[in-house]
Amino acid sequence: MFNKVLIANRGEIALRIIRTCKEMDINTVAVYSTADKDSLHVRFADEAVCIGPASSAESYLNIPRIMAAVEITNADAVHPGYGFLAENSGFAEICTEYGVKFIGPSPEMIDMMGDKITAKETMVKAGVPVVPGSDGLLKDINSGLKIAKDIGYPVILKATAGGGGKGMRIVHRPEEFESQWNKARQEAKASFGNDGMYVEKYIEEPRHIEFQIIGDQKGKVIHLSERDCSIQRRHQKLVEECPSPFMDSRLRSKMGKAAVKAGKSINYEGVGTVEFLVDKYKKFYFMEMNTRIQVEHPVTEEVIDHDLIKEQIKVAAGIPITGKDYLPSMHAIECRINAEDPYNNFRPSPGKITSFHSPKGHGVRVDTHVYAGYTVPPYYDSMIAKLICRAQTREECITKMERALDEFVVEGIKTTLPFHKQLMRDKSFREGNFHTGFLDTFELKPGY
Ligand code: ADP
Repeated sequence: MFNKVLIANRGEIALRIIRTCKEMDINTVAVYSTADKDSLHVRFADEAVCIGPASSAESYLNIPRIMAAVEITNADAVHPGYGFLAENSGFAEICTEYGVKFIGPSPEMIDMMGDKITAKETMVKAGVPVVPGSDGLLKDINSGLKIAKDIGYPVILKATAGGGGKGMRIVHRPEEFESQWNKARQEAKASFGNDGMYVEKYIEEPRHIEFQIIGDQKGKVIHLSERDCSIQRRHQKLVEECPSPFMDSRLRSKMGKAAVKAGKSINYEGVGTVEFLVDKYKKFYFMEMNTRIQVEHPVTEEVIDHDLIKEQIKVAAGIPITGKDYLPSMHAIECRINAEDPYNNFRPSPGKITSFHSPKGHGVRVDTHVYAGYTVPPYYDSMIAKLICRAQTREECITKMERALDEFVVEGIKTTLPFHKQLMRDKSFREGNFHTGFLDTFELKPGY
């Protein structure tokens, strides 16, 4: 087992990793920017190294500074968390060159899944169903128009380097193609420095259902059931749950097998997520694979009762998986609490938290790095807490979530708490009747 893990991240996930390391008797090193000097991950780690100013480019994304912190602290493994360098194959490679274990898959696996077109091609070869669309990169707008005509509108233009819902545009009619093409390319160029685009059929009213997988160094891959992440705003997840209300055991078995096949086709090592779109006829299509731990991993932890970070560290240390595929025996829901104003187009609302009370009680879990007196910096993502509830049934879980949301007090900044309170009381949500476009017509009412 590792002796000392450096956590190349911040916020709740850094704290989450430190907690598991402590339980595994592994020493921890936090890295932090000057904007994060008062963060809990800095206080809770055994050692902490300041790696630069607030800007991510000069701190959490700065590989030479992180490697210098590895050197001076003599860490023998690096946990990248999610975001920042978690899917940066160059970083994984440098860690390996330094003789430090990158807790995640190999650089080759990251590259294969990081580029969406290569990932799709790999899945086609492995026999996993993918969304119909272009074979590879579009040469120009005309080839895009031709394929769109063949597969039929609506279509979705996607950046091969895309992530976080960026570089994606839906096209309903041929007349809109050119303007959407230009917008998607500009956004992709600005966000990823790569404007390579492909086109695929836009699946109408789909569910986003993903499978958690884990693979060990001996080639064994298992799945740990699904998470339904269809409650999204601008292609970004806000609520996740397991089991999906849309799931049945036949579909779970088919999708679980496809997810394991996806992992095995690249000899996957570590925790990963295979994302699918599921249409109203329960046909499913591979969308992409994330080669890291995800924000919403606690949902799975709650239903299978295993610590996924611990499992991730164990496989990274070469310990084989002993279990088999897991089926959910409980229901869990996660609400992402963001420092955003839901009444003002979800505008970011950084600043000082003057008062903070998190809900407690049976089946309630809060993963957070904030506290009363903490200032949410404007430089990073706006998530300040994840509220996860677990109960025997979906109905009980929603009721518990309502109760927990009502107990949650955050003052000084605006948060997404009112949005979640209304959602939990929404009839369609309660009936499990929603798809990825659900929030497009959701109207936030005052009084929450
Ligand atoms: P990102 O990597 O930016 O998160 P994804 O490929 O995971 O992008 O897609 C994010 C979301 O966009 C999905 O959860 C879904 O809501 C929507 N989406 C992506 N592709 C399609 C498609 N072909 N049809 C319908 N919706 C799609």
